[in-house]
Amino acid sequence: MKKVLVLAVALVFGVVAGGKQRAYAASSSDGADNAVSGLFTSQELQKFAALDPIDTHAHVYRNDAAIHALFNKLNLHILDIVLVDDQAPEPVHNNLAVESKAAWEFVHASHGRAVFCTSFDPYKVGEPGFADNAIRGLNREFSRGAIAVKLWKNVGMEIQDDHGNYILPDNPIFAPIYKDIAAHHKTLVAHIADPSSAWEPENPASPDYSYYKQHPVWYMYNKQHPASKEQIIAARDHVLEQNPNLRLVGAHLGSMEADFNQIAQHLDRYPNFAVEVAARVPYMMLQPRDQIIAFILKYQDRLIYATDNTFSPENKLDQKLYDWEKNYARDWRFFATNDTLDYKGHQVQGLALPDAVLRKLYHANAVRWFPGIVPSSH
Ligand SMILES: [Zn+2]
Repeated sequence: MKKVLVLAVALVFGVVAGGKQRAYAASSSDGADNAVSGLFTSQELQKFAALDPIDTHAHVYRNDAAIHALFNKLNLHILDIVLVDDQAPEPVHNNLAVESKAAWEFVHASHGRAVFCTSFDPYKVGEPGFADNAIRGLNREFSRGAIAVKLWKNVGMEIQDDHGNYILPDNPIFAPIYKDIAAHHKTLVAHIADPSSAWEPENPASPDYSYYKQHPVWYMYNKQHPASKEQIIAARDHVLEQNPNLRLVGAHLGSMEADFNQIAQHLDRYPNFAVEVAARVPYMMLQPRDQIIAFILKYQDRLIYATDNTFSPENKLDQKLYDWEKNYARDWRFFATNDTLDYKGHQVQGLALPDAVLRKLYHANAVRWFPGIVPSSH
């Protein structure tokens, strides 16, 4: 329906740019009437697909032919990440075995387009034999083909010890698990902490305002004595220091989303650290254009493309298929073109990054930081 509307608007205005019809935003109330939005045009799709794009942060927990068809159309590869969230109502999200089964079904049917990122259940941290059991589970998944392990924000922001202290990522109980991941040459994906706005008074202008409205359990500002964001980031850094042979990819710009100097300092300090951009591209859009281009060019070997796109059993399939492609199209226009985009009323000009840098961002860096993410014959 939306597609039809956008197309109709484009036809009414007879807009043709560079020989191709452009989908112009239908509303001008936000002053963004020249902003490009919507799905890929066929020319754009050709360029995107030619990058052999890899999305290193996605969650697919269902196996529909339409999803595989979308992956083929986009020439897309993903890392399919599982995690345990005890706040989630659906059993697929709060039970590692159920969620893993659903994700493996998709991975096995994907003809190599999806690979598996396993996890362990940190809510069991107080049980006897926790680390040994977690390692046994990880090694079983490695033997089935898992290439990475997810550590989630519930470590640092939710799970507490018997004294009510938050368990942090560098708690010694996790140390043998990190050693095991490094010994198997797998990658640790660490979504540790959250955007700073979780620890700050409500701010409707923040990119994450609606997320914390919908998920108040993660809004730390309202909590009694939470671990500070600085403590959690320092604990993550401690893991990097203690495990120089462990490849650690910081999800969501390593949760340093609003401070690119801080990201740069971390990348300079820790050679075993890279960051992916999942769900934080808007923070890049809000940076001064020349500065974010300089940052990307300088760290072009350490930045990895990702979205946090999800497909869960409870989702409406058609809407999700549209949302997935729309996200890829928006991000690609931002990184690869000069087009004007609209982000919440901000006019954002695309970065038009060089092809060689786009190939690293969308493909080569993922291959290097996540060995096995594409079949070796690829
Ligand atoms: Zn995610």
